[in-house]
Amino acid sequence: MDDDCTMKLTNLNTRDGIGANSMFVEIGPFKILIDAGLDPKSIGREALPDYSFIDSALDFMVLTHCHLDHLGSLPVIMRRHPQAPILCSVPTANLAPRMLINSYNVMMRQREELHIPEYPLYPQSDIHAIEKQFMTLPFERPRIFDKDGQELTVTLYASGHIPGAAGVLFEYKHRRVFFTGDVLFRNMNIIRGAAFPTGKLDVLVTETTRGDTLRKTDHTYEEELKRFIHTIHRTILQGGSVLIPVFALGRMQEVLFILNEAMRDGAIPECPVFASGLGVALVDHLDALTKKTGLVNFRKKILQDLNAKPLARDLMPGVDLQPKGIYVLSSGMLVESTPSYLAAASMLGHPHNAICFVGYCDPDTPGGRLLATPHDDSYSFPTLDYVTRVRAHVERFDMSGHADREELLDFAINASPRAIVLTHGDPSARAWFEDEFYAHPVTASAKIINAEPSMYYDV
Ligand SMILES: [Zn+2]
Ligand SMILES: [Zn+2]
Repeated sequence: MDDDCTMKLTNLNTRDGIGANSMFVEIGPFKILIDAGLDPKSIGREALPDYSFIDSALDFMVLTHCHLDHLGSLPVIMRRHPQAPILCSVPTANLAPRMLINSYNVMMRQREELHIPEYPLYPQSDIHAIEKQFMTLPFERPRIFDKDGQELTVTLYASGHIPGAAGVLFEYKHRRVFFTGDVLFRNMNIIRGAAFPTGKLDVLVTETTRGDTLRKTDHTYEEELKRFIHTIHRTILQGGSVLIPVFALGRMQEVLFILNEAMRDGAIPECPVFASGLGVALVDHLDALTKKTGLVNFRKKILQDLNAKPLARDLMPGVDLQPKGIYVLSSGMLVESTPSYLAAASMLGHPHNAICFVGYCDPDTPGGRLLATPHDDSYSFPTLDYVTRVRAHVERFDMSGHADREELLDFAINASPRAIVLTHGDPSARAWFEDEFYAHPVTASAKIINAEPSMYYDV
């Protein structure tokens, strides 16, 4: 790099779309890694970012949040850079080891079931080793790093999305570079929405997840929530059960919060509630973070108020769920062998039931396949050797954990950066942002970079 103000960004993700998020950042003398994900759609070493681009010791890492597409390979890279501090928020430092233990256990199971000898990708002791490396930063409190007589200021900003999630601002020689991480601007019940830096930025690295999701103007979150509660109400009154497949971290607790309020207000009739999976184990963590940090708003008492019970272990495909009630189960995309997958196999063939999706479903997952299957067509659960007709009511509610594309566009336009780097989205989602930025007078002359897999850019 000729000008030492130049920043070099290397996208270590080897996939188009979301993949394994990891970005190697070189600013002046500083070498920084942002996130260390695992690709949820790949198996074995294929799921790792390409860490071979990192040619020298890392000064530090930034972990934006605890979803596995950002966190899953942290022990792998920390083994090579054991002295590097990991900058993150207090909730992220608290939740990351628990999420990694779960990921480790899944790998151990897949090693047997799918015969993947390279699993697990790290020993369990590596999870404990990285716990010592967390360096927590409060949001909006700058921290200065020195190297070779140069100074770099690092500040985390709350990015909504899930508990602990952060964007990160680097300030170097009066240049401002901001990475959004995964973002939700709207407040949830259990966390506040993103509070990002104001003022001009030089470089913006933005997620683009919902770039191909058109939101109709009359289709507000409040209306979506009403529709969701109405469907649950109707299903319970007609004697059916409701399955709500959820992501374990954040989404499950948000849904339990909503159900608790709706039952208290009489918007949903009193009925049994069931909750199973990693999300229930995370409740203790969120309860402690609520008391300790004020950055989360979820108390264990909500589970007690709902009298939530675990899912029965003896489910049979095609034999309807007993007792009738509301089942809040992970995973969110009905991934094989998870509680939501097993419950769906029990209830899908019965017309009085409803399956309510509240988050994103990749088209290649069982949840994505179900959403694409017309009512009354047949649907298969291959790992259970079971096929049924879709008789239950299947509905999707747009309650995404990611910002609407227009909100991200507005943020970028207000920041009027010299360069915009597009990450974390399918090619069609990124294309929408690219077109909009070129069309807008404020960003038309900016350098727009669509971060390709395993590519580096000088910005
Ligand atoms: Zn995320
Ligand atoms: Zn992500």
